[in-house]
Amino acid sequence: MVFTDRAKTVLEIRYLLKNEKGEVIETPEQMFHRVANYVAQAEELYKENSSEWAEKFYEVISSSRFLPNSPALMNAGKPKAQLAACFVLPVEDSIEAIFKTLKDAALILQSGGGTGFNFSRLRPKGDVVRSTGGIASGPVSFMKIFDKASDIIKQGGARRGANMGILRVDHPDILEFVRVKRFESLSNFNISVAVTDAFMEALFKDDYYPLINPRSGEVVKKVKAKEIFNEIVESAWETGDPGIIFIDTINKYNPTPHIGQIESTNPCGEQPLLPYEACILGSINLSKYVKDGSIDFQMLEHDVKVATRFLDDAIDVTHYPVPEVERMHKGNRKIGLGVMGWADCLVELGIPYNHKKAFALAETLMKFISEKSHEASQELAQKRGVFPNFKGSLWDKRGIMIRNATTTTIAPTGTISIIADCSSGIEPYFLLAYKQRILDTEFEIINKYLIDFAQKQGFYSEEFIDELRKKGTLRGIKAVPLKIKRLFKTALEITPQEHIEMQAVFQKYTDNAVSKTINLPQRTKKEEIGKIFILAYKKGLKGITIFRYGSKTGTLLRVSDAH
Ligand code: ADP
Repeated sequence: MVFTDRAKTVLEIRYLLKNEKGEVIETPEQMFHRVANYVAQAEELYKENSSEWAEKFYEVISSSRFLPNSPALMNAGKPKAQLAACFVLPVEDSIEAIFKTLKDAALILQSGGGTGFNFSRLRPKGDVVRSTGGIASGPVSFMKIFDKASDIIKQGGARRGANMGILRVDHPDILEFVRVKRFESLSNFNISVAVTDAFMEALFKDDYYPLINPRSGEVVKKVKAKEIFNEIVESAWETGDPGIIFIDTINKYNPTPHIGQIESTNPCGEQPLLPYEACILGSINLSKYVKDGSIDFQMLEHDVKVATRFLDDAIDVTHYPVPEVERMHKGNRKIGLGVMGWADCLVELGIPYNHKKAFALAETLMKFISEKSHEASQELAQKRGVFPNFKGSLWDKRGIMIRNATTTTIAPTGTISIIADCSSGIEPYFLLAYKQRILDTEFEIINKYLIDFAQKQGFYSEEFIDELRKKGTLRGIKAVPLKIKRLFKTALEITPQEHIEMQAVFQKYTDNAVSKTINLPQRTKKEEIGKIFILAYKKGLKGITIFRYGSKTGTLLRVSDAH
């Protein structure tokens, strides 16, 4: 097993077990054994051979073909083995309920998970508080409390805080919410507006829509949809926040509408969940399946099935920090298998990220992964039973007996892609040469495939590397053949429409959602961002996040939390 220096450092800082003195007491190999052995214990519940499965899990993990989300790597085998990355908690409109949720969120954060909240049930700023005769301070003020609490808790926890704050577009405080990141850092929050179909209709007709007080159901006022939309665009242009989630699209695909409506996603947006629901994610490293210029579908099928089983097992051995979450997660048994190393995979195949062959392959691959993970989940259901909330679910209506209400999600893989030394999620390369600080060590990363190509094709030289270091991309470097330049296009050389197309193709075969940042050049105009949001809606995406290069951001989560 070979790790890059950067991976070793990340592992040492956050993942490998330490003694009381803070000294590392396991090797990465031992960590992978710890994870595989711990999760395979679940097999005993179903009278299966746990050591046989531990070996299968170890084989896919230690070869970097599959990695589970960070909490599983960090916590497996510990007394409080919390293995899930994603949570959503409800926020009800009372001081007692708000602080119960804050407490639950603290416990989740302490265990390494990230939480999403929809604050829309809170009465607006200036509304009455009957018990005190006072005036309500509104959702944004409570978000600030959650943010501060995350600041404090993360200091003792495993990772920096990660929260998603959501407000419906028809909440009376929507403008304050949309603008908040322009004035406050709220650095532990990503924020997103939950946009409805009704709002989009109003926008297309240049019409008014109602803002509604959630406490009384009263229409507070009517506003032009365009006015709010322009504010969303303005803030996103300036700071990257808010993103948008298309809440009606999300609920159209809610597999368990009889259990509840989905109102929020996890922090990075890829996992829509019911209140009190959790999800365990894992990712297949696509860069490992290229054999002789094509995809090894046989190995992929094998690994998808092993990974699906791993994730289902993980639910049974997770120590849940909040009892309501345990009940909900064990009721729906949502898991989220996704991919990473997509940009690497394409380079290995010689296909540029924005070539039509890339979109076609994305579709073929994700369809395959989705089908195989659904098959695996059906096979599990035969032995272990369908998920407890199955009756009345969309799966029930389709007559598909399945173990998990969802099986696929595409995560950002901010840290696990560093461990596996592959490109993150389905993103193109951001830069081909860059520096990254992890604590006090600075790492220089130069794209390993590019170096390989340069050596084989004879354009490798000291000067080439120097120029690459300065520019970060191949643009304007004369020594590089055009074909190579096309193959190594970076995020800002790919059009927003192409970014969206890639997200849409993967979304088509993903039960949950897809983490993707639409990276935009600094010069991007506001109108263009508006068009991108509308295109995302029309393409049926569940959500969209943009980031304009060089714009101010209070949020550090979009990239790995390891540095
Ligand atoms: P990783 O690569 O570490 O497994 P990802 O970057 O794929 O994680 O993020 C997956 C999910 O994990 C996020 O959407 C979020 O729910 C959770 N998460 C990510 N970073 C953090 C963090 N610093 N603290 C808590 N949760 C996090």
